[in-house]
Amino acid sequence: MTTTMQNWREKLTNGKATYKFEEGNAKMRDILGGKGANLAEMTRLGFPVPPGFTVTTEVCNLYLEAGKKLPPGLEDEIKEQMKVLEEKMGKGFGDAKNPLLVSVRSGAKFSMPGMMDTILNLGLTEESVKGLAALSGDERFALDAYRRFIQMFSDVVMGIHKTEFEELIREQKKKQGCKEDRELTPASLREMIAAYKAKFKAELKRDFPDDVFEQLKLSVEAVFRSWDNPRANVYREREKIPHNLGTAVNVQCMCFGNLGEDSGTGVAFTRNYNTGEKHMVGDFLTNAQGEDVVAGIRTPMPLDHMKEVMPEVYKQLEETSEKLELHFKDLQDMEFTIEKGRLFMLQTRNGKRTAQAAVRIATDLFKEGKLTKEEAVMRVTGEQLDRLLHPYIPDAAKEEARKEGRMLAKGTGASPGAAVGMVVFSSDEAAAMGKEGKPVILVRPETTPDDAHGMLASKGILTSTGGPSSHAALVARGWGIPCIVGCEALKISLKDETIKVGDRTINKHEMISIDGSSGEVLLGQLPLQVPTDLSPETKTILEWADSFRKLGVYANADNPKDAQRARSFGATGIGLCRTEHMFMEQDRLPIVQEMILNAPEAERLMRQVHLLEMDYEGAAEGRKKDEARHALEAMKDRLKKPWEHYQSLLAKLLPVQREDFRGILEAMQGHWVIIRLLDPPLHEFLPAKDELLVDVTRLQTVKQAAPGSYDKTLAEVREERGDARLTLESLESLLQRVESMHEFNPMLGCRVCRLGIVYPEIYKMQARAIFEAACELVKKGVDARPEVMIPGVGTLEEMEFTRKLVEGEAADVQKRMGVQVKHKIGTMVELPRAALVAGDLATRADFFSFGTNDLTQTTFGYSRDDAAGTFMPVYLDKKILKVDPFQVVDRVGVGRLMKIAVEEGRQTNPNLEVGICGEHGGEPESVEFCHTLKLNYVSCSPFRVPIARLAAAHAALKEKMGEVSSTK
Ligand code: ADP
Ligand code: MG
Ligand code: MG
Repeated sequence: MTTTMQNWREKLTNGKATYKFEEGNAKMRDILGGKGANLAEMTRLGFPVPPGFTVTTEVCNLYLEAGKKLPPGLEDEIKEQMKVLEEKMGKGFGDAKNPLLVSVRSGAKFSMPGMMDTILNLGLTEESVKGLAALSGDERFALDAYRRFIQMFSDVVMGIHKTEFEELIREQKKKQGCKEDRELTPASLREMIAAYKAKFKAELKRDFPDDVFEQLKLSVEAVFRSWDNPRANVYREREKIPHNLGTAVNVQCMCFGNLGEDSGTGVAFTRNYNTGEKHMVGDFLTNAQGEDVVAGIRTPMPLDHMKEVMPEVYKQLEETSEKLELHFKDLQDMEFTIEKGRLFMLQTRNGKRTAQAAVRIATDLFKEGKLTKEEAVMRVTGEQLDRLLHPYIPDAAKEEARKEGRMLAKGTGASPGAAVGMVVFSSDEAAAMGKEGKPVILVRPETTPDDAHGMLASKGILTSTGGPSSHAALVARGWGIPCIVGCEALKISLKDETIKVGDRTINKHEMISIDGSSGEVLLGQLPLQVPTDLSPETKTILEWADSFRKLGVYANADNPKDAQRARSFGATGIGLCRTEHMFMEQDRLPIVQEMILNAPEAERLMRQVHLLEMDYEGAAEGRKKDEARHALEAMKDRLKKPWEHYQSLLAKLLPVQREDFRGILEAMQGHWVIIRLLDPPLHEFLPAKDELLVDVTRLQTVKQAAPGSYDKTLAEVREERGDARLTLESLESLLQRVESMHEFNPMLGCRVCRLGIVYPEIYKMQARAIFEAACELVKKGVDARPEVMIPGVGTLEEMEFTRKLVEGEAADVQKRMGVQVKHKIGTMVELPRAALVAGDLATRADFFSFGTNDLTQTTFGYSRDDAAGTFMPVYLDKKILKVDPFQVVDRVGVGRLMKIAVEEGRQTNPNLEVGICGEHGGEPESVEFCHTLKLNYVSCSPFRVPIARLAAAHAALKEKMGEVSSTK
């Protein structure tokens, strides 16, 4: 005997392997499974549940650990339990005259399709089927039950597919000349049973078990084994259900819905799961056994019809429904059977529902006094809320399209919402068509930063590669554009501008519809339902959520329009306003480029001047001093022209930036706006080096080899580059300057605060623009509150230097304009070193904002943009990582750094404000983590603000109930 099997009972909770329904309750889902626990609960509450017992999930795990062997003594225990059932029912298991029949039902903690199907009518044998016939007075019924049992048992337990038997039914019906199963005569059924058994024997080289305990034992084992089948494993992977939970087995006395027209079976929901309306809905069939409803052999009728055919029972079901809902405090999905006018409840569980229904049911249940506000808020999930914020394709329309074969493929839903538009394969074309107001869906194998203009102009984005943290996914989510990634079934040819799916070809400009929530791609123009505003119920839930949450919720917004939207979704601050997009705008890019190209020389000369000034100061009187003065004067002369030019360019940008900031500060008046100074490396704003090289080479070659066509070529290049005064020389010089700014590893190069320290004039200009805008507004009576954020600080000296720079401008502007502005100066914590020296930084920072995108990159040493397309999917497959840390904050590593930063930062600066502005700020699990760290706020894209509000409330409520720990 294996060691796992010794003293096996000692390993069980309460030392028990089986529980009678009356012994369990709803809280015992872990060991009884969801179905078993609720059957026990209903039994305990006195609802009409056929008696039965549950073999626990723990026994399943022992069985699997022992190499698929039942623990010793279990069979005897099951026999004991059967004896109890026999006594209760006054019937005998396998009895020839008065047989007891049972169903064997699997049931794990979480409802799981993919596991074993239910076996009904177990306990029928050659002998007992006669008893059943006599007892029911219906031979046809008894034989049909036996036939069904053989089929189910063979299929589910022994693995002979049921289609093989259905073939036999068809033959028999043909032979007898009838259409419906129900018309088969007892003689035909007897013939079929013989044929079934022969089939069984032929396939398995053994007789169909005629011993009822053997039938039962084999079925219990089959349920246990089904936990480990591939379908179940795949399902658990997808739904993130742990693999070690195991399934329970429920053995339950049969009741019969197929004993005539006063019998039946069905499913019922306590309320409408589509709309949330308070009205019982469901499906119902008379004279049928459970599986018939789902099997689709007969079309069930709407539950309302039951009111007419069985008014009494309907009333009883309605009362039961009320009571169950009140008891479980949630929408219930119930299974029931009526045997000769008697109602039996066979299952109840919390029902699935649409997002709309979820919100309505939660608020209604509160109004009806069935839920507290806290419970109502906990009933709505972030995912449901997400669906309510975006356009969607109504289910009915999707269903119709599916029937018509227009469902093309399914990828990963990466940015929620649905979109309809014309297929376009290039970003330039998408941008052009978008400008004309045409709806386009940008279809690419993947996207890169060069596609930004096309993505922005598209209604939706569809890629055939990449995962949820690919470029396309991240950008689309940030902008709230529906997006599907990794849709591998699509073969996209950029060259032919076609998509091939199976044997279908979709051409450029054909209409498709995508659902970025579900990942479905559909051919043609499907109708879109647009949520105009948050529904009153949704607003109510969110207001309640606000009253429970401790975290503030800010939004990331770069322009007044986004800021406005963020406010309307309930954001009470801007956690990240990036300034690089402002630099990128078409009308100013030429000035920005010109400024950048002139910056290195001007700043370099300025540094020289400083050095020479120091020399001069330090020089002893006399000849040395004179020499130093000469050198200084000469350098100042050299500086003069480039410096003036540089300053004039910055001066051109100043009013533009001021306008940008004024708009946002005004839109958010009364709330804090965190503006980050320039972050990316400067060369990102310059023309691409490779393209310059191509043009230079082209002009050089033509000049040498075909001077006659030089003018024509030059004209072409001028046209392409939109610069009528361009010459080969100017282009060569541009190329040289662009090359000189090239970096091997830009991510770690001259960017973030390093950029501000090398080019202080740029940061100064930005600070000036911020304070001028704020002062102007304050003068007008607008409560503008800027917070200036320095990116990428890693040392106290960096903080010190940049802070002084900003403070200098702030003081200057406020003095000049004669007003005071409430403001803060702080840093983005996005480097491990920043977190580790947070105590120092906090002495000079008024706030920290975790830039968890970069903090994750720098802590793991992963490049986010490369990870998605290369190793991340593999890492997730091979379980090197459980989840993508770019989606959900890695609590153990990155989270630890955050914890250090919060604790040590607040130690030296108790007023330190701490927030998060990475993508994680809108992801519920990460929000929960931020709550445990006691951050002041989370900041996310405007579209995710409601979700963050809800998640923050969930975190606070869970903590109150003792369900949250920061180490999870
Ligand atoms: P699933 O988990 O797939 O819903 P169930 O175990 O709930 O499977 O069984 C499916 C159906 O089989 C039930 O809805 C019910 O109609 C029928 N059924 C199960 N057990 C019994 C029983 N003891 N008596 C009558 N019908 C039953
Ligand atoms: Mg069921
Ligand atoms: Mg960053």
